[in-house]
Amino acid sequence: MRILIAGFQHETNTFAPSKTAYDDFVRGGAFPAMAWGADILGLRDVNIPIGGFIRAMEGPRTELVPVIWAGATPAAHVEKAAFERIAGEIVAAAGAQDFDGIYLDLHGAMVCEHDDDGEGELLARLRAVVGPRVPIVASLDLHANVTRRMLEVADALVAYRTYPHEDMAEAGERASGLMMRLLTRGARLHRAASRLPFLIPINGMCTMVEPAQGTYRALAGAEAMHNAALSFAPGFPAADFPECGGVVWGYGEDARIDGVVAGLTDHIVSRESEWMVPFLAPEEAVREAQRIAAHATRPVVIADTQDNPGGGGDSNTTGMLRALVHCDAQGAAIGLMVDGAAAKAAHDAGAGHDITIALGGQSGGDPPLHATFRVEQLSDGRCRYDGPMMNGKLTDAGPSARLSLGGVQIVVSTWKDQMLDRNLYRMAGVQPEQMKILVNKSSVHFRADFQPIAEAILVAKAPGPLRADPADFLWTRLAPGMRLRPLGPAFQTP
Ligand SMILES: [Zn+2]
Repeated sequence: MRILIAGFQHETNTFAPSKTAYDDFVRGGAFPAMAWGADILGLRDVNIPIGGFIRAMEGPRTELVPVIWAGATPAAHVEKAAFERIAGEIVAAAGAQDFDGIYLDLHGAMVCEHDDDGEGELLARLRAVVGPRVPIVASLDLHANVTRRMLEVADALVAYRTYPHEDMAEAGERASGLMMRLLTRGARLHRAASRLPFLIPINGMCTMVEPAQGTYRALAGAEAMHNAALSFAPGFPAADFPECGGVVWGYGEDARIDGVVAGLTDHIVSRESEWMVPFLAPEEAVREAQRIAAHATRPVVIADTQDNPGGGGDSNTTGMLRALVHCDAQGAAIGLMVDGAAAKAAHDAGAGHDITIALGGQSGGDPPLHATFRVEQLSDGRCRYDGPMMNGKLTDAGPSARLSLGGVQIVVSTWKDQMLDRNLYRMAGVQPEQMKILVNKSSVHFRADFQPIAEAILVAKAPGPLRADPADFLWTRLAPGMRLRPLGPAFQTP
């Protein structure tokens, strides 16, 4: 059996300040760097979907033909040139020889400059090349905005079930199971899908708490009971196009899959109010953290969720830093603040010196913070993730430094990296376990490594392009009637 494998991952926040260019895929950032051919097989031990697919499929009867793996840090629209170049390589490879199957490691929320539905377009082009008989199977992120075209063109799509995404490789493994089932069956499975009538805030999707935890438990239970393959992608509520939002779908041997998907959808929709989460204003969050920390031995962690680089933020807004300083927080740390000029100024001055700079604020949202900071420690910005998310990933945030201002330590980096691993603090000399308050530029992924050491976790709404409450976005193109948050107002065409 000869199977083409490729990966093309992007989560597009159409409201974010910066577009996504080809070079962003080359560097990878939050993902491994772009890889071709046999080098992709080197990703087999990384906890990403294609790694799980490779491990599950390799053997004497299978020839895996890796083409390209490309993923970029979430940001605004993928530039047309980038999409055409990467998709073009995959489609050309699919047409160059005969394959028994095609597996794609996709995100599912890619919006391009020239097409709302990047994955649907790629899948359709592949289908046009290989014809109706070759199974095309893809794994998707839990934050996929699954479109009708994606479902119609692919033989099977399967999404992650955890947020933080600890089961990425498992999703690839599940895709391999569906691939084998399709190859053995020699025909398509029955498919059913249904779309949720409301957008879910990103923070409400965390599977370490209810209602998401129970929903995925119900999903697994129904799947086992009905020999089905079920997925629920609650969506990425920051992409302004008509198919933004959550979708439940599944595959089975016969039309009974319709009832299984309807049952799971009812489970989700009947709990609509529970999918909303409370948000605090920046100073409100800091004061609450100070109150809790006064009697705690472990840090209180505040998610600076709206500037999350994993959702399109540039990680340079200053709202939470300002709140820490204004509330005179002691024993506090914030990271990563991405400001290459500030990192360079710190390296030029050296540890132990003061620098007077305007920190952050380059992407708008809020102004830079003008102050005199002490350069406490310099760092090359390199570390290895030891936490559960992408465990083992080597990361390079570029020249970095720990600055201090009053009782606040600020970890400044040159490149974006989501604060989802404690080593991103340690690389600059912050011992996260010993702090009173930690402010992480992350929405949910940080919980995998920080929840075990946290006294409490708060979610703050400071300025940033990833609106925690999807109703705060200025939507223009959603499906008419879509509720902008659980039990929220319905979208109407402006
Ligand atoms: Zn995701």
